[in-house]
Amino acid sequence: MAGAAASTPLLEQYEGVKARYPGHLVLFRVGDFFETFGEDARLLSKELDVVLTARGPDRTGDRVPMAGVPQHAIETYLGRLVRKGYKVALCDQVEDARKAQGLVRRDVTRVVTPGTVVEETILGGPEHSFLASVALPSRGSGSYSAVDVTTGEWLRGPADGPGPEGLVSVLAALGPREILFSSPAETEAALLRVLRREFPAARLEAAPPSATESELPPALRAAADPFLPTDLTLVAFLKATQPRLVPHVTPVPRAGGGRRMLLDTKSLRHLEISRPMNPDDPGGATLLSVWDATVTAPGRRTLHLWLTNPLADVAEIRARHDAVAALLADPSQLEGLRRRLTTVADLGRIASRVAGRRSRADELGRLRDGLRLAGEIADELSHGLSDPLLLRLSGELAPPTELLGLLEASVPPSVGGSATPAELLRSGFSEELDRARAATADALAGLAALERREQEATAIKTLKVGYNQVFGHYLEVSRSNLVRVPERYRRRQTVAQAERFVTDELLEASATLLDAEERTRSAAEAAWEELCSRIDRFVGQVHRLALALGALDALATFAHLAEHHAYVRPEVDDSRQIVVRDGRHPVLDRLLGERFVPNDAELEPASRLLVLTGPNMSGKSTYMRQVGLLVVLAQAGSFVPARYAKIGLVTELFTRMGFTDEIGRAKSSFMVEMSEVATILAGATDRSLVLLDEVGRGTSTFDGLALAWATVRYLHDERRSRAILATHYHQLSGLVGALSAARNAHFAVREQDDDIVFLHRLVPGATDRSYGVHVARLAGVPEPVLAEAGRLLKELERGLPAPSPRSEGRRHRPGGNYTQAVLVETEPSEGELLGRAFRELDLEDLSDAELRQRLLDLRRRFPREVRPAP
Ligand code: ADP
Ligand code: MG
Repeated sequence: MAGAAASTPLLEQYEGVKARYPGHLVLFRVGDFFETFGEDARLLSKELDVVLTARGPDRTGDRVPMAGVPQHAIETYLGRLVRKGYKVALCDQVEDARKAQGLVRRDVTRVVTPGTVVEETILGGPEHSFLASVALPSRGSGSYSAVDVTTGEWLRGPADGPGPEGLVSVLAALGPREILFSSPAETEAALLRVLRREFPAARLEAAPPSATESELPPALRAAADPFLPTDLTLVAFLKATQPRLVPHVTPVPRAGGGRRMLLDTKSLRHLEISRPMNPDDPGGATLLSVWDATVTAPGRRTLHLWLTNPLADVAEIRARHDAVAALLADPSQLEGLRRRLTTVADLGRIASRVAGRRSRADELGRLRDGLRLAGEIADELSHGLSDPLLLRLSGELAPPTELLGLLEASVPPSVGGSATPAELLRSGFSEELDRARAATADALAGLAALERREQEATAIKTLKVGYNQVFGHYLEVSRSNLVRVPERYRRRQTVAQAERFVTDELLEASATLLDAEERTRSAAEAAWEELCSRIDRFVGQVHRLALALGALDALATFAHLAEHHAYVRPEVDDSRQIVVRDGRHPVLDRLLGERFVPNDAELEPASRLLVLTGPNMSGKSTYMRQVGLLVVLAQAGSFVPARYAKIGLVTELFTRMGFTDEIGRAKSSFMVEMSEVATILAGATDRSLVLLDEVGRGTSTFDGLALAWATVRYLHDERRSRAILATHYHQLSGLVGALSAARNAHFAVREQDDDIVFLHRLVPGATDRSYGVHVARLAGVPEPVLAEAGRLLKELERGLPAPSPRSEGRRHRPGGNYTQAVLVETEPSEGELLGRAFRELDLEDLSDAELRQRLLDLRRRFPREVRPAP
């Protein structure tokens, strides 16, 4: 927009606010609209699809772009802006426009950012809403703090590993909506790149200067010693955006009281725990979506957190299993409990809204009812119950009696959805409010009496007292009765069929009423503030109660699922075994039902590495994920889909899935695959479970095979992790014989004439058939192609001499890691050379014309049909 010097007073005022709120989208109250000007107006118009107009001309004669949204719908628009990652400053009129001298004073009254909102309409769902702060030193591991101000939960700790990847790994399960970052200049760019890649929807901002330790909220100061640098920056940011919520946050352990299983970004995604891997199918089934039978908002959040943060502590895990078993002991009581939980409102969030002074009056009714119900559930649970975890939760469910008493005294038994504080608050709560209301009632009665007196005095039965904004109160007389109007009536307004008058007495009665109404309004406002500030003291307790409700709901969900799907309690211990009988894939099992073929799993120190070979579509990937998901479920506290399961504690779960399974990821070059393998090999221990699917897929045959082999050997000999590896290199199965604790397995296939049927049943030993041609037939490749392929395959299997090499055709991509062979390179065949040349075509960077030229070159280089000689 034009410079400040060239602006009108209004624009000058706007510029002034913009200067004080850099990085904010400033919405400026003008009349019934919130407006933006200049660049922000263009942005707003684009993001919200609202009309771009212009204001002005200003002093230099330029017209300034302007776009705005109506004030009455501001919450909806704020929701959309915040979900798009904007930080908005609402600038309101801070003096009465009627009393203002010149331009009305305006100031920022509310800052709304994606990670600090508490309003239901803006949050858009019950999911956690985390604001995170991360710090990455120039070398080594960073740390994080994250808070959900809507529930009061404050999580904190070191990164999962060094560098930016270690930070995103620890944050992945939280899916932060806003991230504050701090890092020395040399590592900042890398950190930002990785944060943007992993959390594309999150808003990123450089962390503000730290708060001082004395500014930390009491619960944090008591629990967190030493403080993390990120605790201090997070508090500083909250102080600027949601100061009222700062005192209520509470540090909560991320994984019960114990350790958390390390489940990095990749594994979360590959196992499709909370979001589907295919971004084209955002509604696709995930572990969370099929496991979410929760009935409360805190329950849903808890389940999400539990499934994405499995425990790595035998005692904590068993405590959850014990609680599930205890709930299962009486299925009808369990369902009764779930029915009662259904009606409980999102108490933690209501408490946060009260603290932030953004609650609606009727929410206090729901808070009171929910607290009361929590108390009843607590009583019921504690009867005849001996499970320690359930007993602890039932203790935490007891509502603070003082708060319940306060709500009962202030909020009537049933509350309409749009009640204002003035209508809502019970009499007896505030003397001043009661007096003002009585005065209002008196004044109304006075006006009614005046109306009756005037009707009698004038003998006009239809005479009535009315009110409008412009003229205030009046006496209305219809046309036909005008002759009876006395002298003392003064005319104010003429309408279609009547005239409107005032008298001295009416003006006096009117003033009395308006005065009483104004008093009621301000008394209600004061009483509401008084009520909110008295509730303030209990916000932390309500948060804790809501967390207990969430945990109870999650445990009841595990029990409910176990009951309905015949899941079993897994035995979790400190062994290094995984034994599963008739295990099912938790998600596919639900989708396929009877058609799903169960399988066993057996990994233990003497037989810790399983190499799966066999054709595509036989079930290798499904099986690997199944084992991973059973471990996740068991360690999250759930019962599992199997006839029997014993899980020796897994402290890290690593996965690497080949590009065929990385649907939709932008790039999966060999380099990416190798860096993932490197991370796994560095972090794996004898307590890890490693799932490697299609290792070595992204490169030419020998590189891939060699690396796959070296990886297997290292995992087996050095890391001694439990591992399952799927590969289409049958050669690997032969090499496995050289490892003491490795086994081969494949999936049974039935051949029928030229067709095959996948039985999806795991059988020991390797297979040397890849059934590629059969799979191609299943996929609908035309018969002539299949016949030709079948013929070629037979020739190849007889062992053919390689076609003569063309040494001039060997080209290396400059600086590429691509062809740095690990194994002895034999002379490549012409087919391989052609393949390589094709892969080296840089489709992203070449123009169409260049591409065409390269293809013509290739045709010249390979004039013959490329096929093995007969
Ligand atoms: P692979 O990795 O060997 O190519 P997948 O694991 O991707 O095979 O499985 C291919 C398809 O086979 C899956 O989409 C699934 O529908 C089906 N499938 C896999 N395992 C089973 C099973 N145990 N029971 C029934 N169907 C299965
Ligand atoms: Mg596969």
